[in-house]
Amino acid sequence: MDIRQCRRCRKLFNYVGHFNCPACVHELDDIFTKVRNYLYDHPQADMPSLCEASGAEEEDVLGWLREGRLILGGDAAAMLVCENCRKPIQTGRYCDACAALVRSQLAETAETLGGKARSEEKPAGRPGSAADRPSSGQGVWSRKFLDIRGGNK
Ligand SMILES: [Zn+2]
Ligand SMILES: [Zn+2]
Repeated sequence: MDIRQCRRCRKLFNYVGHFNCPACVHELDDIFTKVRNYLYDHPQADMPSLCEASGAEEEDVLGWLREGRLILGGDAAAMLVCENCRKPIQTGRYCDACAALVRSQLAETAETLGGKARSEEKPAGRPGSAADRPSSGQGVWSRKFLDIRGGNK
């Protein structure tokens, strides 16, 4: 049993891999959907307008970037770096090379889990239109992000 304090509402809860309590996880899922949809319509949105439109906190958005649920397009990629080699990346924790390395190491120990290779064909940073907005998956956020990092905190 691992009791933690919810990062969001400060309630104590039984840790199961999320930093938030179940209620907040659920709520954040809804907010994430709004964030993703907003970014499809406004790929150059800045942090304040994104947060206002979606109800998300800056911290939530940064968390989604780390988790790979949001991708940065274009120049904004420089704000995330690979945790292994420090190369700028667009999403997640590792660059493609290191991710492949990590995946192959994981595959050795957990081969039965069957690693789902994520498709390499998705161009990052492509401006989305309502027509090809997916009903699920990652959101893509363009470059303005870096500017906000500097000013907002
Ligand atoms: Zn909570
Ligand atoms: Zn790397």
